[in-house]
Amino acid sequence: MTEVNKYWEAVQANVCAHCIDNDGKGACRLAGDVECGLKHYFPDVVETVLSVQSNNLGPYVRALRENVCAVCEHQSKDGACLVRTEVDCGLDRYFPMVVGSIESLGIECNGNLTEYLGVQ
Ligand code: SF4
Ligand code: SF4
Repeated sequence: MTEVNKYWEAVQANVCAHCIDNDGKGACRLAGDVECGLKHYFPDVVETVLSVQSNNLGPYVRALRENVCAVCEHQSKDGACLVRTEVDCGLDRYFPMVVGSIESLGIECNGNLTEYLGVQ
């Protein structure tokens, strides 16, 4: 299983399972033109979250806007996003949970690496 797949599995269990757009059987009901930004940009979302280290959500949100929203077709040149305003973007709606899920797994992976390398 690739590293990104491990993060996707964790986010599916911790975030998507509680999403209003989940079909109740673990599958996302959004696809095609309305596919969720979380799924569409997932590798970039993981990279973005892992690039930030903060106790506050602000820096994570700023990084998300710069790395993901800036390339998303739903965001206009002035930085506005109607999907976000209407609370229809799963990525934005559950972003604090997404950050928590990715960071927990990241810490776990780094812990294993530290153990493996014998670093104190
Ligand atoms: S809409 Fe987004 S957050 Fe919700 S289940 Fe689908 S991929 Fe997950
Ligand atoms: S908040 Fe808007 S611009 Fe950002 S990923 Fe979601 S739909 Fe795209």
